[in-house]
Amino acid sequence: MPREKPFWRAKTLDDMNRTEWESLCDGCGKCCLYRLEDVDAGTCETTNVACKLLDGATGQCSDYPNRKKKVPDCIQLTPKKVAKMDWLPLSCAYRLVHKGRDLPWWHHLKTGDRELVHKLGLSVRGRSVSELDAGPLEHHIVSWVDAKGPPKPKKKPKLKPTDPT
Ligand code: SF4
Repeated sequence: MPREKPFWRAKTLDDMNRTEWESLCDGCGKCCLYRLEDVDAGTCETTNVACKLLDGATGQCSDYPNRKKKVPDCIQLTPKKVAKMDWLPLSCAYRLVHKGRDLPWWHHLKTGDRELVHKLGLSVRGRSVSELDAGPLEHHIVSWVDAKGPPKPKKKPKLKPTDPT
């Protein structure tokens, strides 16, 4: 009997329920970094400068429920917004699903391990500087944000996929 497709392959972002939608985020924190856009040149560089609310040690927002109040221009993702946000990191789960692609092998919905994104160095944990300390953004341009992730190990990790429901 053919195996049922996981929800992120079977549904569009629009069709997902709240739990499924929330579970997609891999917690990389890369969308909390500042970008430098040159409209004339059509370029967009990423920096390691993070929003003041990002906790650099954990790579997580330090006040997620109140982030909009404290940082009014914090973007709350919706399917419509994802479609327009071409600056989202290449590995962002919302971007991947929007483009009809599968999640990477290391995603917690596949492995059940929410720490793996950090262990593999695919998140901002320990690599960002707060905007409160950074100084000019031009001094902080980095190339690791969209670097290719590690290849899938030959041996399947002995982990259980997360159930978002
Ligand atoms: S870039 Fe995407 S997957 Fe990473 S924290 Fe932001 S919303 Fe979540």
